[in-house]
Formats: sequence, structure tokens, C-alpha cells
Amino acid sequence: MTLFQQPKAYRPATTLVHGGTTRSNFDETAEALFLTSGFVYASAEQAEATFAGTERHYQYSRFGNPTVAMLEDRLAQLEGAEACRATATGMAAVNAAILSHVRAGDRVVASRALFGSCHWIVSTLLPRYGIETAFVDGADLAAWRAALSRQASLVLLETPSNPMLEIVDLRVVTSLAHAAGAIVVVDNVFATPLLQKPIELGADIVVYSLTKHSDGQGRVLGGAVLGREKWVNDVLQPYIRNTGPSLSPFNAWVLLKGLETLALRVEAAQRTAGSLAAWLAGQPEVARVWYPTLPDFAQRALAAAQMRGSGTMVTFEVRGGKQGAFALMNALRLIRVSNNLGDSKSLVTHPATTTHLRIGEAERARLGITDGVIRFSVGLEDVEDLREDLAAGLAAAAASIPCAPAATG
Ligand SMILES: *Cc1c(COP(=O)(O)O)cnc(C)c1O
Repeated sequence: MTLFQQPKAYRPATTLVHGGTTRSNFDETAEALFLTSGFVYASAEQAEATFAGTERHYQYSRFGNPTVAMLEDRLAQLEGAEACRATATGMAAVNAAILSHVRAGDRVVASRALFGSCHWIVSTLLPRYGIETAFVDGADLAAWRAALSRQASLVLLETPSNPMLEIVDLRVVTSLAHAAGAIVVVDNVFATPLLQKPIELGADIVVYSLTKHSDGQGRVLGGAVLGREKWVNDVLQPYIRNTGPSLSPFNAWVLLKGLETLALRVEAAQRTAGSLAAWLAGQPEVARVWYPTLPDFAQRALAAAQMRGSGTMVTFEVRGGKQGAFALMNALRLIRVSNNLGDSKSLVTHPATTTHLRIGEAERARLGITDGVIRFSVGLEDVEDLREDLAAGLAAAAASIPCAPAATG
């Protein structure tokens, strides 16, 4: 295998197509799929030298694989990170980033508005192993200051958050965390590597569910952890090597091909999202819309300061609570009901009864997830077809409520 000399300075769209590419002796154009669990050695001596670390040679795909390595290199170049390890799922990435770093007696601080399984790791799993955990409201800097006024070893946060698009001030929170002795892990799924660079804003580790925009076509699960080379090699890699959350080379290959179109897809979906968010905000059946470019988005200035775009997710509240939301969702013909996001197909979710059911009513109320809230993952369809589908959904929502919303204001 010959290394294609990749200058580091290419812009994101170019890195997404060429970054990390290495070619075999056959000089193939597309990235080769090395669907192999293991590797052979020319001699017993080469096997010995490989295990002793004096020779670089692939050993076993749980530790490393050439197709997976191409994906890791491409993601690292895109992120501007020193190193990357790919994992089987986004949750494997979050879990590995945390569990490889913490030990009994440590303290972990997290923003409350986390993806459900991330919330479970912090609230339920970590305390089982003697790790103290605390949640704070991500937008409340006084709460972060209080929580980080004493020693901590790790901070986990998500910005923008799912589904209310709450923004955490990364510059301020990372500096508070570092002063408390903690590393900061940012779940950057909603922003994608194109629209927010947490490492430039002070974060130590960035994690992704590659299942979302990176594949973006509903095919495979995958995850990634990015950070400094020393941490990745000394802390993360032994954990991955010995516990095995490794990514299949086949899925890595699908993800490499998905990344080639990431910039085009995110840009197109974001344009449609901005247009539909503004349109939804003007509809009488809609009580409120959350999208970072809207004039009434509370954290608009912060979003503009730390993000390079506003993203592909729109959250809105339809009048009529659960009844209105369900009537809208059931009337849609093009936009599908699904808990996934970041897909080329537009998808809607009712968080209160699905992704955020288990956190309970009180916690949902704290996060602002009312029964009328719908999370809308904007895809690649024609914007007018989406608008017509939403209009039919809103008409059905209005008809489902005994008192017409337009009349009641
Ligand atoms: C989907 C998601 C995850 C988990 O990723 P999987 O690939 O489903 O394991 C973690 N965090 C966020 C913000 C997500 O959207």
C-alpha cells in the first residue's frame, strides 16, 4: 500500500473527497474495501517485530484496518484534529471517550440537554462505578461556573442540543472546565464538522455519530472520537483495542463514500431548513419555531459567533399539543415519521413520546419539550414539495383541534 501524499492545507470540500486516501498496488481510483479480519506476516520475525512495535504492520481489524484508517485520517483532516479513532456507533464513540478517561472517585459534569443514551451513561452508568456526576443547564453560565468551581475530570456537552437547539458557549465553558482540571468532550452531531469546530473553540475531544449526516443516506451506523494524538494513542486506543467497539471495514467504506458529498448535502439541506423555518414561523397553526437564524431565537448571537452555519434541523411547536402534533405527522405524505436525523430523506419526530419519553415529564418540562414540539430533520427534497407537505400537515393539525387556532390567535 502506497501512501498518497496528502497536503494538510486543502479546504473542507476537497478534504471530504481526497483526505486520507491511500492506494494499493493496483492504483484503484475509489477507496479500496479491505474486508478482512486479520493480516498475514512474511515471517515469524515480522510478526514478532510488529507485536514489539518496532515495525508498522496491520495485525487485526479490531486494532486497525486500512479502510477504517482512511476514514479516520479523512475525519481528522476535516476536523483539524491530530488523531481520530472510528467506532461501530456514535454511542460507542461517546462511551469510549468517557470510560477510557475516567476512574472511580472522578467527577463528571454534563449539560442536561444530552442525547438520551448519553444522558443514561452520565446519570446511570458512571455512578455504578463510583464516578460522581452532575448535570447543569447548558445555556446557564452561572450554573457551569458553580459546577466547575471544584475539581472535575471530564465535561460532556452537546451544542446545538437535541431537540431544542440549545447553544452552549464553548469558549467560556471550556476555559472553566480546564481551570477545574477537566477535559471537554463535545458531541458535535447537530453542527457536523463543517458548521462548528469545537477544537478551535477550546474543546479537547470531539465525538460524532457518523450514522447521521456523514452517512446521511440511512445505510450504516458509525462513530468517531477525535482529539490530540497523545490522548488518542495512550488513553483511547488501549481501551478500543481491548474492549472492541471497532468499526466494520465495510461500514467505513460506505462512510468514506458518504463523506464525499457531505458538504453538498449539508449546504442544500441547510438552505431548505432556513427557508422552511422562516415559513413555519409565519403559519397560524405554529406556536413557535426554533432555528438559529430566526429573529426570536434567544441565543442567535452566540450561535452566529461560534457556528459557521445554522444547520439542517428545525424544531417547532404546533398548536393543539399532542393531538395537533400527531394530526400533523399523520397527514404528511412525503416527510416520514422516524427517530433518525441528518438523512437525505426529510424526517419528523415527536420527542415527547419517543426519543425523550424515558427522561420523564418533569425533565422534559425543564428542557422545554412540550407535547406540541416536533423535531424536523430537513432532507434533500425540493423545498416546494416539502412546503406543500407541511401545509397539508398544518391544515390537518388545525382541523384536529375543536377550536380553530387561526380564530383564537
Ligand atoms: C444519534 C446520536 C448519538 C448516537 O449515535 P448512534 O450512531 O445512534 O449510536 C449520539 N449523540 C447524538 C447527538 C446523536 O444524535
